[in-house]
Amino acid sequence: MTDSLEKEKLVDEKGLRLDGRRVDELRPLKLEVGSLSRADGSAYIEHGRNKILAAVYGPRELHPRHRAIADRALLRVFYRMGTFSVGERKRPAPSRREHEISMVIRQSLEPMLFLEMYPRAAIDVFIQVLEADGGSRCASTTVASIALANAGIPMRSLVTGVAVGKAGGQLMVDLSDLEDKVGEADVPIAMAYGRSKYTLLQMDGKLSKQELAKMLEMVEGAIEKIYEKQQQVLREGFVQIREEISESEEPSSDERDGPDTEISETDMESSDSD
Ligand code: ADP
Repeated sequence: MTDSLEKEKLVDEKGLRLDGRRVDELRPLKLEVGSLSRADGSAYIEHGRNKILAAVYGPRELHPRHRAIADRALLRVFYRMGTFSVGERKRPAPSRREHEISMVIRQSLEPMLFLEMYPRAAIDVFIQVLEADGGSRCASTTVASIALANAGIPMRSLVTGVAVGKAGGQLMVDLSDLEDKVGEADVPIAMAYGRSKYTLLQMDGKLSKQELAKMLEMVEGAIEKIYEKQQQVLREGFVQIREEISESEEPSSDERDGPDTEISETDMESSDSD
């Protein structure tokens, strides 16, 4: 199939994309927190066919110690794709792309963390892509942000990621792998929605100023929907923890009955005589 043929088909006459979505429609999204028991915080995302796990460790002692920063914590992000996560086997060694994506995710999260609260410590965020389907750096930012919250790390705001772009001549949100590859432009964005601040904006391809402005309008609606899901899943996680705590604190049936409260006649007599 030639590029031009694919471009033509990316959006049909009804304005629908190959997977049946409208241009402003997100792919199905599923979020989960606390997916891993050993990590201090963890989360899992399925966004379209992206399947990504995030594990947070820290704040903890930093090794090697010479990398410690005297007045704040060092945030380290490791974005890695499984060898099985894409169509063709990905070489296991971390690629330049993985190093670059780790850096941009770190930069998109960092401004929302109170790193100055943990001098000389490390906060490590491990992101493992099990399956990639376009927009994996944005989905990784979204899931890393709720894993950090799940680890109890204070944040100014959650960070939410989604890509916008142009494919088949149309501006659209949340590009799939194919739309990303054969489309005209791809703009990954992350935003601290609670603060109306962009923390990531990259651009691959060509867009006019007007197109970019229109895209930034489109992206807010998409970000808001993902942000609401992030909040909802975190809230549900906290409710579950509270229920578990109150269940474990609930007195056993023996304790509930309390010590034998029946007062015998002799007890009464003795208390009367006092
Ligand atoms: P993002 O995943 O953030 O959109 P890219 O634009 O670099 O990052 O990649 C777009 C998509 O290309 C990825 O989501 C993935 O589906 C695919 N891809 C990335 N790296 C590889 C690779 N080494 N082999 C095959 N497909 C890949």
